Amino acid sequence: MKLAVLAVQGAFIEHEKMLEKLGADCIEIRKKEDAEKAFDGLILPGGESTVMGKLIKELDLYNVLKTKIDNGLPVLGTCAGLILLAEKLSNDEQVHFGTLPVTVKRNGYGRQLGSFHTDGHMAGIGRIPMTFIRAPYIESVDPAVDVLARVADKIVAVRYKNQLGASFHPEVTADTRVHEYFLQMVKEINCRAVHSSIEM
Ligand code: GLN
Repeated sequence: MKLAVLAVQGAFIEHEKMLEKLGADCIEIRKKEDAEKAFDGLILPGGESTVMGKLIKELDLYNVLKTKIDNGLPVLGTCAGLILLAEKLSNDEQVHFGTLPVTVKRNGYGRQLGSFHTDGHMAGIGRIPMTFIRAPYIESVDPAVDVLARVADKIVAVRYKNQLGASFHPEVTADTRVHEYFLQMVKEINCRAVHSSIEM
């Protein structure tokens, strides 16, 4: 299984270390040729979504990645990565990939004091540590979206088809279960894709 991590800005190395720990192959996406390679899943890390969004366009990654996500490529977006996926931002005009039908509030917990650590229940996994760093939260979701976790009434993790989004940073803790959940999702989606191409 080969995973790609968007590596233009932000906390991509932490995701790569997690994948390494779990024995998954990983490539970095820094330029268009990287995005065009074949891979089974994509991780959009935390960082600064405005900067990342700008770089995605400038480096000509936008169309390739958006098409892949639209076509069912499994994707995990954490924190700024979730912002990149969101269809709507309640406090920002700029929409990036816009593939995940949720409304996200950037810096939802405040800009400076918004970093904290807690733990919470994530559906399909159990109780996990959650680190929030100037994090967004999800204000509302389309009815087709599965809410996987809430912290103090705020939605902090969702799944919609091939997309998994979390407003916290699972890659900065020692707990590997969110990444394991994502790798399982990658396996299932790719397995289904192989079966449907055989049936065609
Ligand atoms: N506040 C950042 C943004 O709006 C996200 C923070 C993060 O990814 N840790 O892009």
